[in-house]
Amino acid sequence: MQLPDGCTEFDRRDLRKCVVCDRGMMHNSHIVFYEISIAQVMVDMRAIRQIAGLEMQMDGNAELAAIFAPSSAIGARLPASRMLMCDSCFMEMDKPPMLPALWQKASDLEAERQDKKVQATKAREQVDHG
Ligand SMILES: [Zn+2]
Repeated sequence: MQLPDGCTEFDRRDLRKCVVCDRGMMHNSHIVFYEISIAQVMVDMRAIRQIAGLEMQMDGNAELAAIFAPSSAIGARLPASRMLMCDSCFMEMDKPPMLPALWQKASDLEAERQDKKVQATKAREQVDHG
C-alpha cells in the first residue's frame, strides 16, 4: 500500500473496540477512526528551580540561562495510554465537547508546522543555489 507523506501503516493487530461504544472501528462503514494517546508528564521541580536560579544569576535572561543549564529537560514523559474511538462516537461526542475541537486545533498546528518546514526548506535552497 502506497502511503501519503507522513502516514504510517496501521496494523490490524492494533485494532481495539471503541473506547466509548465498545463496537468495532468499522461498524459504521466510515473509513476513518481515531487513535488517541494520553501521556502524563511529571515535572522535575529540582530542574525547574535550577533553571529559575540560573535565570536570576543572568539578570532574568532566560535564553542566556538556557545556554548554561546542564540539561534542557524539565521532566519525564510517562508511558502513554492508547485507545481507539470510532468516527461516530468522535463526531457525536459533545460531553465533553473539547475532543473534536482539540483534534482540529492539533491538525491546524501540524499544518502550520509543515508550512514553516516547507518555507525553511525553500529559504535554505535559495541560499544554497542563489
Ligand atoms: Zn464508538
